[in-house]
This record gives sequence, C-alpha cells and structure tokens, in this order.
Amino acid sequence: MHEEQAEAWQQLVDTARRTVDEGLVVGTSGNVSVRVGDVVLVTPTGVPYHRLGPGDLCAVDLEGRSVAGKLRPTSELPMHLAVYRASDATAVVHTHAVHATAVSALVDELPAVHYMTAALGGPVRVAPYATYGSDELAAQMLRALRGRSGCLLQNHGTITYGAGLDQAYDRTAQLEWMCRVWLTAASVPGRTPSLLSPEELDRVGVKLRGYGQRGD
Ligand code: 13P
Ligand code: ZN
Repeated sequence: MHEEQAEAWQQLVDTARRTVDEGLVVGTSGNVSVRVGDVVLVTPTGVPYHRLGPGDLCAVDLEGRSVAGKLRPTSELPMHLAVYRASDATAVVHTHAVHATAVSALVDELPAVHYMTAALGGPVRVAPYATYGSDELAAQMLRALRGRSGCLLQNHGTITYGAGLDQAYDRTAQLEWMCRVWLTAASVPGRTPSLLSPEELDRVGVKLRGYGQRGD
C-alpha cells in the first residue's frame, strides 16, 4: 500500500468515527470517502467504524472498480463518485444527522436563516427522494448540488464535499447546526423566522473567503 493511501485511510477512519461520536449518525449509517489521485478510498458497507483498522483499506477507481481491499464498498458509491466526477472535491461526507434529516422531510430548500448559508455556496437545496444507493439518488443529488458544496437528501440525510476530510466534515456539522437553528426558530408558535437576502449572502460569501488567519 502506498504511504499516501495509508495516511488517507487513517484520516478517513477517524472522520467516519467522528460522525458517530458527534451524533451525526447511528451505527453503520452514513459513509465517507477521500480521493488520492485517481483512487477513491471509501468506507466499506455495513461495517461499524470502530472495527476498521489499517488492513481494511477499501479503494475503487473513478468507475467504481475495486483497486484494493477485500471489503465491499459503501452502497452509496454512486453518490460519492458522482461528486468526484463533477467537481474538484477531494473528500465527501454523507450522514443521517437528525435535524438535517427532519428538515429534508419538510421543505425543498433550507431557508437562509443564518449567514453560514453562504459557506455552502447559497441556500441549501433538498434533493428529491430516491432509494438509497441508487443511480437515481446520485443524479438527484448532483442537481441539488449545483453551485453548492452540500445538499440535503429528502427523507434521508446530508451530503457535503470539500478540499480534504476536515472541510467536508465541517460543512456537514455546519449544515446540521443550521438545520437545528431553523427548526428551533420555525417551531415558535405564531412567529416566522426572518431570513437573509440573496444580496447579503453574496456579500458574506465574498467576506468568508478572507475569514480566519492569514497564511503568511
Ligand atoms: P453503507 O453502510 O452501505 O455505507 O450505507 C449507509 C447509508 O447511509 C446508506 O445511505
Ligand atoms: Zn444514508
């Protein structure tokens, strides 16, 4: 195994465990992948993440053909590969986070209740329902992702991508948090949450590019 792949596999297992530890999924729900060149490392289907070790690496090419490992890859391979084919993402995180899944069953777009909407590229769409693991789900997801780095999957959960596992994971956590904020505000009887305008989201989108510490 290449050293780069071994390192990426360890990071992938850590990220998958984090989704359980931080309550974004239960059991073997959800899946995580990371791209190393033309190889995609993915969580195996139906295996508890705490059982995964260095010898369990599961790798496919961009067509989904196995290139390393004995375990069967995640059933959501079509979604993960669709993201890599359509974007410059190097990591994808899929979860069944509670508040995000609840929102996915209520609306077709998460109302822009917070400026972090801009961190995902704009108001987060809900991809219409399709059976888990299907090509149809991957196609619906791609449509919902246009211009965004994450979307909700109706009656199912979340999917986000990024440059590296930390960014992809962080986008999922922010998305779940925003869904929780909206559900909380929207559930106050007799009140309707105020929302941010498209112009304000554009302004924040530009400002966020300079957010954080300078790299020099
Ligand atoms: P896998 O165990 O096959 O990754 O499936 C979990 C899941 O979330 C399907 O949508
Ligand atoms: Zn799922």
